[in-house]
Amino acid sequence: MVGMKLYDTAKKDYVNFEPSDPVSIYVCGITPYDSAHLGHIFTFMTYDLLQRRLEDLGHTVHLVRNITDVDEPIYVRAKELGISYTELAERETKSFDAIMVELNFRPLFAAPKASDYINKMAMTVKQLLDSGFGYYVDNDVYFDVSKCTDFEDFSGYSQRLLKGLSAMRGGDLDRAGKRQPLDFLLWKSISDSTDPAQWDSVVGRGRPGWHIECSVMSSELLGLPIDIHGGDSDLIYPHHSAEIAQSQGMGLDTPAKYWVHVAPLLSDCEKMSKSLGNLVFAKDLLKDYRPPEIRLALMHYHHRIGGEWQPGYLDEARKLLTAIDRTSTTADSQTAKLMIEKVRTALDNDLNNIEVIEALNEFADSPKTSDKPNPDTVSIVKQTLTLLGLN
Ligand SMILES: [Zn+2]
Repeated sequence: MVGMKLYDTAKKDYVNFEPSDPVSIYVCGITPYDSAHLGHIFTFMTYDLLQRRLEDLGHTVHLVRNITDVDEPIYVRAKELGISYTELAERETKSFDAIMVELNFRPLFAAPKASDYINKMAMTVKQLLDSGFGYYVDNDVYFDVSKCTDFEDFSGYSQRLLKGLSAMRGGDLDRAGKRQPLDFLLWKSISDSTDPAQWDSVVGRGRPGWHIECSVMSSELLGLPIDIHGGDSDLIYPHHSAEIAQSQGMGLDTPAKYWVHVAPLLSDCEKMSKSLGNLVFAKDLLKDYRPPEIRLALMHYHHRIGGEWQPGYLDEARKLLTAIDRTSTTADSQTAKLMIEKVRTALDNDLNNIEVIEALNEFADSPKTSDKPNPDTVSIVKQTLTLLGLN
């Protein structure tokens, strides 16, 4: 069996992926308060391609992608809309799922909602309190990062950068009573009865912090350590660094054997975000383009590089798919075999989409060698498109 090489964020190097059986993959999913945009699709498609190639190699894959339905932006947005946050979360999750199906994503092993695991999250926070990794500040619980000797190692970021990112991403560096500025929230106590999301628990009335949600859902559904943990590269710090710290507090070295992150897709030179108003919604593109065209357009980007979204890639993708379809009736099977082998090699090379596109273009440009369709060629082309989710 040909080995797969992946770039591992923790090791900061390429590693040979050694799969378990089944292969477990946990990907941090959406906070359901707005429609799925192209940045989401690009991130999640990386793991969909990984799953497809692993299945192509004969592995069973258990891919879990969670729904962060316990998170501040949902409450804010629901209030703006004048609806309950559960209604908003359910509505957006449903529309996101429909888009994933339309874009031909492989079915998930599980899509857990944070709200279904509150009790277990509170119990884990209690465990961290008992083992001395957690501590109370008033009625909130924080994680003491000084208990982990290597908290900065995973990201490799300087203290200065960690502090900057914490401040940018909702951390409360200067809160009185915290032992270190980078200590992060495990449990937020709620005393305001009008606050929409609160639960009674062993650690008081309130709700879990975001990081503990993923530690618990991945552990409950896949068992730790999982094979591959994925998500947006923004999650390296604080979210995934916090998950590693939490798992150390739970007696494990790491929650995952491999970490694969996806760089952002940009729009107007900025990461797509609601606050910047530069979102490109999948549902809008689906009015004019077929799902394989959208997927192939996104394959013009390497997952670790990302880049500025170029709408022109959609038309290029359309042309390329038409050309592949045409060539599948005029090329010999050897040319098709060469294409699928190149595509497989490209995916095994740290999911190199750029090399995949090259292999597809080479095939599309190959000279006519037959006047009538060769069934073997047609079948291999179909197999290639299925492997890439372009069928
Ligand atoms: Zn997560």
